[in-house]
Amino acid sequence: MSSAIATDPASTDRINLAKSIPFFLVHLGCFAALYTGARVRDVVVCVALYYFRMWAVTTGYHRYFSHRSFKTSRAFQFFLAFCGTLCSQKGVLWWAALHRHHHRESDQPLDIHSPVQRGFWWSHAGWILCDRYADTRLNGIRDFARFPELRFLNTYWWLPTALLGAALYAAGGWSMFVWGFCISTTLLWHGTFTINSLSHVFGKRRYKTTDTSRNNWLLALITCGEGWHNNHHYHQNTANQGWFWWEVDVSYYVLKALSALGVVWDLKTPSPEVKYAFRNYSEAQRALLNDQSAPLRRPRFAMAKARARAAIAAAAESLPGPVHGPALQQR
Ligand SMILES: [Zn+2]
Ligand SMILES: [Zn+2]
Repeated sequence: MSSAIATDPASTDRINLAKSIPFFLVHLGCFAALYTGARVRDVVVCVALYYFRMWAVTTGYHRYFSHRSFKTSRAFQFFLAFCGTLCSQKGVLWWAALHRHHHRESDQPLDIHSPVQRGFWWSHAGWILCDRYADTRLNGIRDFARFPELRFLNTYWWLPTALLGAALYAAGGWSMFVWGFCISTTLLWHGTFTINSLSHVFGKRRYKTTDTSRNNWLLALITCGEGWHNNHHYHQNTANQGWFWWEVDVSYYVLKALSALGVVWDLKTPSPEVKYAFRNYSEAQRALLNDQSAPLRRPRFAMAKARARAAIAAAAESLPGPVHGPALQQR
Protein backbone atom coordinates (compact mmCIF):
# COMPACT_ATOMS: atom_id res chain seq x y z
CA MET A 1 0.00 0.00 0.00
CA SER A 2 1.31 3.45 -0.81
CA SER A 3 0.92 6.32 1.59
CA ALA A 4 0.46 9.15 -0.91
CA ILE A 5 -2.18 10.09 -3.44
CA ALA A 6 -0.97 9.57 -6.98
CA THR A 7 -0.24 12.83 -8.75
CA ASP A 8 -0.08 11.59 -12.33
CA PRO A 9 -3.34 13.00 -13.72
CA ALA A 10 -3.48 10.97 -16.92
CA SER A 11 -2.99 7.44 -15.67
CA THR A 12 -5.53 6.83 -12.97
CA ASP A 13 -8.44 9.27 -13.22
CA ARG A 14 -10.47 7.05 -15.53
CA ILE A 15 -13.13 4.76 -14.02
CA ASN A 16 -11.77 1.22 -13.84
CA LEU A 17 -14.72 -0.72 -15.29
CA ALA A 18 -13.26 -4.17 -14.62
CA LYS A 19 -12.65 -3.48 -10.92
CA SER A 20 -16.06 -1.81 -10.65
CA ILE A 21 -17.98 -4.90 -11.80
CA PRO A 22 -19.06 -5.90 -8.24
CA PHE A 23 -20.39 -2.35 -7.70
CA PHE A 24 -22.51 -2.56 -10.85
CA LEU A 25 -23.58 -6.17 -10.17
CA VAL A 26 -25.05 -5.22 -6.79
CA HIS A 27 -27.04 -2.47 -8.54
CA LEU A 28 -28.25 -4.90 -11.21
CA GLY A 29 -29.16 -7.42 -8.51
CA CYS A 30 -31.84 -5.01 -7.27
CA PHE A 31 -33.89 -5.74 -10.41
CA ALA A 32 -34.05 -9.41 -9.44
CA ALA A 33 -36.75 -8.33 -6.97
CA LEU A 34 -39.09 -8.24 -10.00
CA TYR A 35 -38.75 -12.04 -10.08
CA THR A 36 -38.30 -12.93 -6.42
CA GLY A 37 -41.05 -10.62 -5.15
CA ALA A 38 -40.96 -9.18 -1.65
CA ARG A 39 -42.01 -10.80 1.60
CA VAL A 40 -42.59 -8.52 4.58
CA ARG A 41 -39.58 -10.00 6.39
CA ASP A 42 -37.33 -9.29 3.40
CA VAL A 43 -38.27 -5.61 3.42
CA VAL A 44 -37.88 -5.41 7.22
CA VAL A 45 -34.38 -6.89 6.96
CA CYS A 46 -33.56 -4.47 4.11
CA VAL A 47 -34.56 -1.40 6.16
CA ALA A 48 -33.00 -2.71 9.40
CA LEU A 49 -29.67 -3.46 7.69
CA TYR A 50 -29.75 -0.06 5.98
CA TYR A 51 -30.10 1.88 9.22
CA PHE A 52 -27.83 -0.39 11.29
CA ARG A 53 -25.04 -0.10 8.74
CA MET A 54 -25.65 3.63 8.25
CA TRP A 55 -25.22 4.02 12.00
CA ALA A 56 -22.03 1.94 11.85
CA VAL A 57 -20.40 3.91 9.04
CA THR A 58 -21.36 7.31 10.45
CA THR A 59 -20.48 6.49 14.06
CA GLY A 60 -17.49 4.26 13.42
CA TYR A 61 -15.81 5.15 10.14
CA HIS A 62 -16.69 8.83 10.35
CA ARG A 63 -17.09 10.16 13.89
CA TYR A 64 -14.68 7.76 15.62
CA PHE A 65 -11.96 6.73 13.16
CA SER A 66 -11.86 9.91 11.05
CA HIS A 67 -12.46 12.48 13.78
CA ARG A 68 -11.82 10.80 17.15
CA SER A 69 -14.89 12.56 18.54
CA PHE A 70 -15.31 10.10 21.43
CA LYS A 71 -13.35 7.38 23.19
CA THR A 72 -14.01 3.67 23.63
CA SER A 73 -12.34 0.34 24.44
CA ARG A 74 -10.20 -1.56 21.96
CA ALA A 75 -12.88 -4.27 21.78
CA PHE A 76 -15.67 -1.83 20.89
CA GLN A 77 -13.30 -0.07 18.50
CA PHE A 78 -12.95 -3.38 16.66
CA PHE A 79 -16.74 -3.87 16.75
CA LEU A 80 -17.23 -0.43 15.15
CA ALA A 81 -14.68 -1.19 12.45
CA PHE A 82 -16.22 -4.61 11.75
CA CYS A 83 -19.78 -3.24 11.48
CA GLY A 84 -18.54 -0.40 9.27
CA THR A 85 -16.85 -2.93 7.01
CA LEU A 86 -20.27 -4.58 6.49
CA CYS A 87 -21.20 -1.44 4.51
CA SER A 88 -18.85 -2.48 1.69
CA GLN A 89 -17.25 0.95 1.52
CA LYS A 90 -13.72 -0.46 1.55
CA GLY A 91 -11.50 -0.61 4.61
CA VAL A 92 -11.71 1.53 7.71
CA LEU A 93 -8.18 2.96 7.39
CA TRP A 94 -8.70 3.76 3.70
CA TRP A 95 -12.01 5.49 4.41
CA ALA A 96 -10.86 7.53 7.39
CA ALA A 97 -7.55 8.64 5.82
CA LEU A 98 -9.28 9.94 2.69
CA HIS A 99 -11.99 11.60 4.76
CA ARG A 100 -9.38 13.49 6.77
CA HIS A 101 -7.92 14.61 3.45
CA HIS A 102 -11.39 15.85 2.40
CA HIS A 103 -11.54 18.10 5.45
CA ARG A 104 -8.06 19.47 4.82
CA GLU A 105 -8.75 20.35 1.18
CA SER A 106 -12.51 20.78 1.29
CA ASP A 107 -13.90 22.14 -2.00
CA GLN A 108 -10.40 23.33 -2.91
CA PRO A 109 -8.72 22.09 -6.11
CA LEU A 110 -7.11 19.09 -4.38
CA ASP A 111 -10.32 17.88 -2.69
CA ILE A 112 -10.90 14.30 -3.85
CA HIS A 113 -14.69 14.50 -4.07
CA SER A 114 -15.81 18.09 -4.44
CA PRO A 115 -18.97 18.67 -6.53
CA VAL A 116 -17.87 22.29 -6.88
CA GLN A 117 -14.56 21.32 -8.42
CA ARG A 118 -15.46 18.26 -10.47
CA GLY A 119 -19.21 17.95 -10.80
CA PHE A 120 -21.96 15.92 -9.14
CA TRP A 121 -21.29 12.39 -10.43
CA TRP A 122 -17.60 12.55 -9.77
CA SER A 123 -18.17 13.60 -6.16
CA HIS A 124 -20.97 11.05 -5.73
CA ALA A 125 -19.36 7.88 -7.07
CA GLY A 126 -16.78 8.54 -9.81
CA TRP A 127 -13.84 9.04 -7.47
CA ILE A 128 -14.51 5.68 -5.78
CA LEU A 129 -14.49 3.76 -9.05
CA CYS A 130 -11.18 5.05 -10.41
CA ASP A 131 -7.71 3.81 -9.48
CA ARG A 132 -6.29 7.13 -8.35
CA TYR A 133 -7.54 6.85 -4.78
CA ALA A 134 -7.57 3.07 -4.39
CA ASP A 135 -4.63 2.80 -1.99
CA THR A 136 -4.77 3.39 1.74
CA ARG A 137 -2.90 6.54 2.77
CA LEU A 138 -1.36 5.13 5.92
CA ASN A 139 0.42 8.43 6.62
CA GLY A 140 -2.96 10.03 7.15
CA ILE A 141 -4.20 7.48 9.69
CA ARG A 142 -1.13 6.44 11.69
CA ASP A 143 -3.01 6.66 14.99
CA PHE A 144 -5.22 3.69 14.06
CA ALA A 145 -2.91 1.92 11.61
CA ARG A 146 -0.87 0.69 14.60
CA PHE A 147 -3.64 -1.80 15.50
CA PRO A 148 -3.05 -5.11 13.65
CA GLU A 149 -6.73 -6.11 13.81
CA LEU A 150 -7.68 -2.89 12.03
CA ARG A 151 -5.00 -3.41 9.38
CA PHE A 152 -6.41 -6.93 8.83
CA LEU A 153 -9.97 -5.62 8.41
CA ASN A 154 -8.67 -2.88 6.13
CA THR A 155 -6.96 -5.40 3.85
CA TYR A 156 -9.78 -7.97 3.81
CA TRP A 157 -12.65 -5.44 3.90
CA TRP A 158 -14.66 -7.46 1.39
CA LEU A 159 -14.79 -10.54 3.61
CA PRO A 160 -17.43 -9.41 6.18
CA THR A 161 -19.67 -8.16 3.36
CA ALA A 162 -19.36 -11.47 1.51
CA LEU A 163 -20.23 -13.36 4.70
CA LEU A 164 -23.26 -11.10 5.21
CA GLY A 165 -24.49 -11.86 1.70
CA ALA A 166 -24.03 -15.61 2.25
CA ALA A 167 -25.79 -15.47 5.63
CA LEU A 168 -28.78 -13.65 4.12
CA TYR A 169 -29.09 -16.26 1.37
CA ALA A 170 -28.85 -19.07 3.91
CA ALA A 171 -31.49 -17.45 6.13
CA GLY A 172 -34.09 -16.52 3.53
CA GLY A 173 -33.11 -17.62 0.02
CA TRP A 174 -32.74 -15.38 -3.04
CA SER A 175 -35.55 -13.06 -2.01
CA MET A 176 -33.81 -12.14 1.25
CA PHE A 177 -30.45 -11.86 -0.53
CA VAL A 178 -31.88 -9.45 -3.10
CA TRP A 179 -33.61 -7.25 -0.51
CA GLY A 180 -31.26 -7.58 2.45
CA PHE A 181 -28.05 -7.34 0.42
CA CYS A 182 -28.50 -5.85 -3.07
CA ILE A 183 -31.25 -3.30 -2.41
CA SER A 184 -30.17 -2.42 1.13
CA THR A 185 -26.51 -1.99 0.11
CA THR A 186 -27.35 0.06 -3.00
CA LEU A 187 -29.51 2.41 -0.90
CA LEU A 188 -26.80 2.55 1.76
CA TRP A 189 -24.11 3.43 -0.77
CA HIS A 190 -26.07 6.25 -2.35
CA GLY A 191 -27.33 7.45 1.04
CA THR A 192 -23.74 7.77 2.25
CA PHE A 193 -22.52 9.27 -1.03
CA THR A 194 -25.03 12.14 -0.76
CA ILE A 195 -22.87 13.59 2.00
CA ASN A 196 -19.99 13.98 -0.45
CA SER A 197 -22.19 15.28 -3.24
CA LEU A 198 -25.59 16.79 -2.31
CA SER A 199 -24.66 18.13 1.13
CA HIS A 200 -22.11 20.40 -0.52
CA VAL A 201 -24.82 21.70 -2.88
CA PHE A 202 -28.32 21.79 -1.31
CA GLY A 203 -29.27 23.19 2.09
CA LYS A 204 -28.57 26.12 4.40
CA ARG A 205 -25.24 27.43 5.57
CA ARG A 206 -25.20 28.66 9.18
CA TYR A 207 -21.44 28.94 9.69
CA LYS A 208 -18.61 30.47 7.73
CA THR A 209 -16.40 27.75 6.32
CA THR A 210 -13.92 27.71 3.46
CA ASP A 211 -16.08 25.15 1.60
CA THR A 212 -19.69 24.87 0.41
CA SER A 213 -20.95 22.47 3.11
CA ARG A 214 -24.65 22.81 3.97
CA ASN A 215 -27.20 21.70 6.55
CA ASN A 216 -30.01 19.62 5.06
CA TRP A 217 -32.72 17.97 7.22
CA LEU A 218 -33.70 15.38 4.61
CA LEU A 219 -30.11 14.18 4.21
CA ALA A 220 -29.82 14.10 8.01
CA LEU A 221 -32.82 11.73 8.19
CA ILE A 222 -31.44 9.28 5.65
CA THR A 223 -27.90 9.38 7.06
CA CYS A 224 -28.56 9.16 10.82
CA GLY A 225 -27.53 12.80 11.34
CA GLU A 226 -24.73 13.44 8.84
CA GLY A 227 -26.83 15.92 6.87
CA TRP A 228 -25.88 18.70 9.34
CA HIS A 229 -22.77 18.99 7.25
CA ASN A 230 -22.15 22.72 7.62
CA ASN A 231 -22.07 22.27 11.42
CA HIS A 232 -19.64 19.42 10.87
CA HIS A 233 -17.29 21.30 8.56
CA TYR A 234 -17.31 24.27 10.91
CA HIS A 235 -16.20 22.16 13.88
CA GLN A 236 -15.43 18.63 12.78
CA ASN A 237 -14.46 16.87 15.99
CA THR A 238 -17.84 16.74 17.74
CA ALA A 239 -19.65 13.46 18.40
CA ASN A 240 -22.93 15.21 17.58
CA GLN A 241 -23.53 16.82 14.22
CA GLY A 242 -27.03 18.07 15.00
CA TRP A 243 -26.31 20.89 17.46
CA PHE A 244 -29.86 22.06 18.20
CA TRP A 245 -32.83 20.02 19.44
CA TRP A 246 -34.57 20.11 16.07
CA GLU A 247 -31.49 18.84 14.25
CA VAL A 248 -32.27 15.10 14.32
CA ASP A 249 -29.07 13.10 14.79
CA VAL A 250 -29.83 9.40 15.38
CA SER A 251 -26.17 8.36 15.49
CA TYR A 252 -25.61 10.73 18.40
CA TYR A 253 -28.71 9.51 20.27
CA VAL A 254 -27.32 5.97 20.11
CA LEU A 255 -23.92 7.24 21.25
CA LYS A 256 -25.58 8.93 24.23
CA ALA A 257 -27.25 5.64 25.16
CA LEU A 258 -23.94 3.77 24.80
CA SER A 259 -22.28 6.44 26.92
CA ALA A 260 -24.86 5.89 29.68
CA LEU A 261 -23.94 2.19 29.58
CA GLY A 262 -20.21 3.00 29.78
CA VAL A 263 -19.43 1.52 26.36
CA VAL A 264 -18.17 4.87 25.01
CA TRP A 265 -17.06 7.99 26.85
CA ASP A 266 -15.67 11.54 26.49
CA LEU A 267 -18.18 12.49 23.80
CA LYS A 268 -17.04 15.85 22.42
CA THR A 269 -19.73 18.49 21.84
CA PRO A 270 -19.43 22.09 20.58
CA SER A 271 -18.69 24.85 23.11
CA PRO A 272 -21.23 27.72 23.28
CA GLU A 273 -18.68 29.94 21.47
CA VAL A 274 -18.63 27.50 18.57
CA LYS A 275 -22.34 26.71 18.57
CA TYR A 276 -23.50 30.32 18.66
CA ALA A 277 -20.71 31.84 16.55
CA PHE A 278 -23.27 32.77 13.86
CA ARG A 279 -24.82 35.34 16.22
CA ASN A 280 -21.78 37.54 15.63
CA TYR A 281 -22.33 37.60 11.86
CA SER A 282 -23.83 40.67 10.23
CA GLU A 283 -26.98 40.42 8.09
CA ALA A 284 -24.86 40.88 4.99
CA GLN A 285 -22.52 38.06 6.04
CA ARG A 286 -25.48 35.70 6.63
CA ALA A 287 -26.95 36.53 3.24
CA LEU A 288 -23.60 35.90 1.61
CA LEU A 289 -23.35 32.52 3.33
CA ASN A 290 -26.47 31.32 1.53
CA ASP A 291 -25.69 32.81 -1.81
CA GLN A 292 -26.62 29.89 -4.10
CA SER A 293 -25.11 31.45 -7.19
CA ALA A 294 -21.77 29.67 -6.81
CA PRO A 295 -21.23 27.42 -9.84
CA LEU A 296 -21.45 23.67 -9.21
CA ARG A 297 -18.34 23.00 -11.25
CA ARG A 298 -15.34 25.19 -11.72
CA PRO A 299 -13.42 25.07 -14.99
CA ARG A 300 -11.36 21.93 -15.39
CA PHE A 301 -8.21 23.95 -15.90
CA ALA A 302 -8.32 24.99 -12.22
CA MET A 303 -7.98 21.35 -11.22
CA ALA A 304 -5.29 20.73 -13.84
CA LYS A 305 -3.39 23.78 -12.63
CA ALA A 306 -3.51 22.57 -9.03
CA ARG A 307 -2.34 19.11 -10.05
CA ALA A 308 0.52 20.56 -12.06
CA ARG A 309 1.50 22.70 -9.08
CA ALA A 310 1.44 19.67 -6.78
CA ALA A 311 3.51 17.62 -9.21
CA ILE A 312 6.10 20.41 -9.56
CA ALA A 313 6.25 20.79 -5.78
CA ALA A 314 6.62 17.02 -5.26
CA ALA A 315 9.43 16.90 -7.82
CA ALA A 316 11.12 19.91 -6.25
CA GLU A 317 10.89 18.42 -2.75
CA SER A 318 12.78 15.36 -3.94
CA LEU A 319 15.76 17.55 -4.92
CA PRO A 320 18.55 18.08 -2.40
CA GLY A 321 18.96 21.49 -0.76
CA PRO A 322 16.57 24.45 -0.32
CA VAL A 323 13.99 25.11 -3.03
CA HIS A 324 12.59 28.46 -4.12
CA GLY A 325 10.01 29.35 -6.70
CA PRO A 326 6.51 30.70 -7.23
CA ALA A 327 4.96 27.23 -7.53
CA LEU A 328 5.94 26.36 -3.98
CA GLN A 329 5.19 29.76 -2.55
CA GLN A 330 1.57 29.50 -3.73
CA ARG A 331 0.92 26.28 -1.85
ZN1 LIG B 1 -17.82 17.49 3.33
ZN1 LIG C 1 -15.99 14.52 8.60
